[in-house]
Amino acid sequence: MINIVRLPAFEDNYLWIIRHGSEAWAIDPGDADVVSAYLDEHHLALVGILLTHRHPDHTGGVESLLQEFPHTPVWGSTIGLCGISNPVVEGQIIDVFDMRFEVMHLPGHVDDHVAYYCAYPDPLLFCGDILFMAGCGRNMEGTAGAFQTSLARISALPPETLIYCAHEYTLDNLKFARHLMPNNQAVADRFARVTEARARDEATVPGALEIEFHTNPFLRLDDAEVMSSLSLTHSMSPATRFRAVRLAKDKF
Ligand SMILES: [Zn+2]
Repeated sequence: MINIVRLPAFEDNYLWIIRHGSEAWAIDPGDADVVSAYLDEHHLALVGILLTHRHPDHTGGVESLLQEFPHTPVWGSTIGLCGISNPVVEGQIIDVFDMRFEVMHLPGHVDDHVAYYCAYPDPLLFCGDILFMAGCGRNMEGTAGAFQTSLARISALPPETLIYCAHEYTLDNLKFARHLMPNNQAVADRFARVTEARARDEATVPGALEIEFHTNPFLRLDDAEVMSSLSLTHSMSPATRFRAVRLAKDKF
């Protein structure tokens, strides 16, 4: 039996653990203490690390964890950075217990951002800071077009895909979504649900991709309300429209 465990860290990060028997993999272990405490409590050996990108809140715990578990392979996009021993490329397959992950190179937040997609038995994606619930990461490197293409690739995954992103930003993102799409009932319903969940201190991650199609403005660049809110036109490319939505969120 494989379990995926969410570990809160820092202000609003989620670190993820995949555990099976007495072994575990960590995804984006930004805080070694949080991961170590969990492994100790459950008597687990760390046998692999997956990194989505090099930002410290995703990688800061790697060095300490490698001191505790020196032979653990670290998979990520750039060898030599952040303790990465096994550089990954687009389309590469990584077996985690009996889950089979495919590497997706998804630039936009940073150029060398990757995500890990598992199709079977239930589709899921560890997507770091590319896609958030009802939002997306900041466009810190590369073009808006590259970012928009990355989001379009995620949108082509099965709608039931569970999105395991790295931050609890859902409520803040939905405030922006509601601002752009004031008459969107799916956004209003989700806003109400998430407001209640957060009041009870419940996590809102993971969530299904399908609800993102209905409520995430970054995946709704053709939405009439999004377009009118930001004076976008159909003659603008998806990249231009994405950039406008991203800039509006940055200022929101
Ligand atoms: Zn980041």
